[in-house]
Amino acid sequence: MCRNNKRYYSFNKFLRDWFGFRVEKISIDAGFTCPNRDGKTGYGGCIYCYNPGFVSPLSDSRKTVRQQIELGKSRQRKKKFKGKYLAYFQAFSNTYAPVDTLKRLYDDALADEEVVGISIGTRPDCVSEEVISLLEDYAKKYMVWLEYGLQSIHQKTLKFLNRGHDYGQFEYAVKLAQNRGIFICAHIILGLPGEGEDEIHETVKKIGDLKIDGIKIHHLQVVKGTVLEEKYRKQEIKIFSPDEYIELVCNLIEILPPRIVIHRLIGDIRPDLLIAPRWDLSKTQILEKINQELKQRNTCQGYFADYERRDSGSDLR
Ligand code: SF4
Repeated sequence: MCRNNKRYYSFNKFLRDWFGFRVEKISIDAGFTCPNRDGKTGYGGCIYCYNPGFVSPLSDSRKTVRQQIELGKSRQRKKKFKGKYLAYFQAFSNTYAPVDTLKRLYDDALADEEVVGISIGTRPDCVSEEVISLLEDYAKKYMVWLEYGLQSIHQKTLKFLNRGHDYGQFEYAVKLAQNRGIFICAHIILGLPGEGEDEIHETVKKIGDLKIDGIKIHHLQVVKGTVLEEKYRKQEIKIFSPDEYIELVCNLIEILPPRIVIHRLIGDIRPDLLIAPRWDLSKTQILEKINQELKQRNTCQGYFADYERRDSGSDLR
């Protein structure tokens, strides 16, 4: 039941399977904003958000999309990378503009012959039939990922986070984009206040039930200057230890359907902006430990997904 003895279906593996060569993402800041900040939906944004903390420091909205792609490519070339690229529209809400503006920006990325697709991070309340039709057109020729920030399916949590949308809007946005050639990825955060393992399992289970194509998992991180930082200083926020996080992530991988592509298993924030957790393990070390833990358990992605559970006699170790 595990793919080539891999413990989970990584995004890198998916890209290699799809294209037959290596593909790297280039992060783009195309100068978008967010309706949860500019007043359309709300002010102040999500309580954990300080966008520069989450966005690759290599992207730069003062440069054009083409220039950012050129820069991204030259950095990869220095590392002797020989594959192609996905343009990752990462900063803020990357469908929050008139459709002709979106088309101009996405076209700009795809004009580069080495760019084989786009990945677009956005909010579930920032898509419309018009936007999805545009993406559907691109998907006939390129790989298109639509990454929706969800974080949790629980209304109480979404309200606490000041997300400015509800779960129903997420489900609507998913259904609007499904069966149109577009890959859909949901972002979630583990360790949100008021949520234990049961609530997190419910979110992951729902992502499986909705037949979403990919998941991006982050651990809760407290970033400088956010409302979350104030709550953390007042000791209202619990932060995972590395061991707690590794155990939880392995439990989730085991219930996640094997076909779901795992884009990420841990958050990544500019170290100078990170208040907590300050783990003494690197991201790579945490990922290694997740693999080791799954190996130790002799399980892999989907091992306990209800509808695919099997009594596998095979030993993966
Ligand atoms: S939706 Fe995204 S960009 Fe907007 S405030 Fe929330 S985390 Fe920040």
